[in-house]
Amino acid sequence: MDLFEYQGKQYFARYGIAVSPGDVADTVEEALAVAERIGYPVVIKAQVKVGGRGKAGGVKLADNAEEVREHAGNILGLDIKGHVVRRLWVERSSDIEKEYYASFTLDRPNKTHLGMLSAQGGVEIEVVAEENPEAISFLSIDPVRGLDLETSRRWVAEAELDEVAREQAAALLVKLYDCYTQGDCDLAEINPLILTPDHTVHALDAKVTLDENASYRHPEWEEYRADEFEDPREKMAKERGLNYIGLDGTVGIIANGAGLAMSTLDVVNQVGGTAANFLDIGGGADANVMAAALEVINADPNVKSIFVNIFGGITRVDEVANGVLEALQRVSIASPIVLRLDGTNAVEGRGILAPHLNDHLITEPTMLDAARRAVALAN
Ligand code: GDP
Ligand code: MN
Repeated sequence: MDLFEYQGKQYFARYGIAVSPGDVADTVEEALAVAERIGYPVVIKAQVKVGGRGKAGGVKLADNAEEVREHAGNILGLDIKGHVVRRLWVERSSDIEKEYYASFTLDRPNKTHLGMLSAQGGVEIEVVAEENPEAISFLSIDPVRGLDLETSRRWVAEAELDEVAREQAAALLVKLYDCYTQGDCDLAEINPLILTPDHTVHALDAKVTLDENASYRHPEWEEYRADEFEDPREKMAKERGLNYIGLDGTVGIIANGAGLAMSTLDVVNQVGGTAANFLDIGGGADANVMAAALEVINADPNVKSIFVNIFGGITRVDEVANGVLEALQRVSIASPIVLRLDGTNAVEGRGILAPHLNDHLITEPTMLDAARRAVALAN
């Protein structure tokens, strides 16, 4: 789960990492109230879960109330790479002498943690990696030994951070490592980590990805979940325990198994259609799951046809067929449904559906035929 910048900064603050004072605002008036409280100048920042907000006009400095109104008004509602800004973070503006980069993430092949540090921050690290790779100092960290202050000191020297920044940065990186490990992050990134003209070091941005596998020991993550879904379809699916990702096409997809669901998207594309979603209903394709899946897809106004692609393995196709019929009694579905049913007990399954077929419930013998039919109905 990715956090918004303001949540990431709150997370950092728990581990003693220095951030600027600030608060969230959902309206221009709220932004103004925050600015008046923390004092000018302030920086107004779009809260969306994508990088490059600065370049997209989502980060602006304001020296007075008038500028807060102007920038907050412009940034709210702004579309940044498909993410519409609904919330702002307003913080005390910092003077910047230097911008550094720091992050911890997993190095999966080496079974270690990987620290990345650069004296050239502020810009995208991918760009630094491409144009100036020697400007990034990598640190491989044994998860059993962890990161101590001595190692951190050597690291900031090797990365050639400014002398005056080194001691503070070394201490901050140990805290960031603690946040990353104890806080169960997959990624903890600060870009930029800044040095101010009066020689203090602190985090100006926060990018945190939490490891969902650890959510059982973090009841406090629940508050992040509330803001997680911008897509109402995904929220609806999550409430029903479905593995769903919203897309922007017209063919609703239901498949059992993530691999088959991915292939289904490919085949729909291949025959000239566009998928409205990814949805893997997993092994147990009973009436409850099928009804929930159809409900979520039916709630999507872009959907013009539904492609149910089931390959029975442990899942038996006759059970799926019964599940579909029962689900259709519970929810009324606007779009025609095209089914491809194959695998274990496929003949029995098709037999169960046969008396119920009509122009809204169609079966096709192969995945390709079914994709063509569903796409034709959608177009
Ligand atoms: P991103 O573009 O999404 O990574 O957003 P950032 O939070 O990293 O902000 C982008 C850029 O805005 C930073 O690299 C800084 O150059 C600038 N910026 C952000 N906060 C401040 C601030 O408090 N003062 C000043 N002078 N610049 C800031
Ligand atoms: Mn940034």
